[in-house]
Amino acid sequence: MTSTFDTMWAELEPIGRSADGGYHRFAWTAEDAALREWFAAEAARRGMSCVVDRAGNQWAWWGDPDADGPGVVTGSHLDSVPGGGAFDGPLGVVSAFAAVDLLREQGWTPSRPIGIAAFADEEGARFGVACTGSRLLTGALPVERALALTDADGVTLAEAVTRAGSDAASLGPDAEALRRVATFVELHVEQGRGLIHLDRPVGVASGIWPHGRWRVTLTGAANHAGTTPLDERRDPMLDLATLIQVARQAAAQHGALATVGKVEVTPNGVNAIPSQVRAWLDCRAREEAAVHAVVSELAGFTPTGESWTPPTVFDAALAARVAAAAGEPDAPAPLLDTGAGHDAGIFHAAGIPTAMLFVRNPTGISHAPAEFAERDDCLAGVRALAATLANLTSK
Ligand SMILES: [Zn+2]
Repeated sequence: MTSTFDTMWAELEPIGRSADGGYHRFAWTAEDAALREWFAAEAARRGMSCVVDRAGNQWAWWGDPDADGPGVVTGSHLDSVPGGGAFDGPLGVVSAFAAVDLLREQGWTPSRPIGIAAFADEEGARFGVACTGSRLLTGALPVERALALTDADGVTLAEAVTRAGSDAASLGPDAEALRRVATFVELHVEQGRGLIHLDRPVGVASGIWPHGRWRVTLTGAANHAGTTPLDERRDPMLDLATLIQVARQAAAQHGALATVGKVEVTPNGVNAIPSQVRAWLDCRAREEAAVHAVVSELAGFTPTGESWTPPTVFDAALAARVAAAAGEPDAPAPLLDTGAGHDAGIFHAAGIPTAMLFVRNPTGISHAPAEFAERDDCLAGVRALAATLANLTSK
């Protein structure tokens, strides 16, 4: 298992990596195609069947979920944010294949099929909606809305899918693919330092904070930076500065997190006062009311909601079972909640029993090249995942 883990990791490493070490793996691009090819090859190498559902997600199966009933599915995503790290997503998919390898080395005979999934466009980096693949699959994202999403170049999702050689017309929810899933377990690198503080390599998720994205359009008047007196300017960049300050203060006041990490400036010239600034606000908190409180303080900027994910509270009995299976004999894996969204949250919302495993991240950094997990912790994660799969597929 350790050698297959290392080999898979090494194969994925160069795909979509830029010179500064950051990853650019966006949905329906050449990098995405290379990652899909890699996934299909890993499935084939293990004699697992590989299918793509109507939402563009890939599934590899050990056993036949149509003949033998729904299975236990693990996996994650292979796409990244702009300049993302190597672990967010791929660790879950690589660990899934390595866990299957370990179970086979141990001679395990699962009582039901085991599936590995790679979900399309989890980060929403290109089209702005997170967990597009899993939301489309479950019907949480209407297909008409998905197809009309556009990237920064004005390319619609429908066009991008077509250009990637897939059939955009057949895109949509897939009840049949969903019926094959009895339980979903996603392994993910921790996006914080909870496990560092607990001095444990692997944890189990108790829940995911509610979170949402809002778009704000600020309008001004384009003019010359050298000839327009300050008091005659209508500069929307100043409004953006105010918005960011207000969001920050409101977040601090209400115990939330608020981030403006994406801005589009028109015309985006050094010597031009902008005519328009579009900005995106990401807001999350442990309590739903805190998110609403922050956004309502920005009402004067008329934010438009782009996505909203209600709080996720994972099934406590399943979490306890996974914590026992994934932990040490005398110490179950610790429970943690997280402010980061995941496909697992979408599955939970669709009524599928769902759990998550986290692997320790010494920097706590995520969505950046410094995102990291020690190899020993990654291998501990594989063993924890394999033990979980064995527990969930025991007779
Ligand atoms: Zn992720």
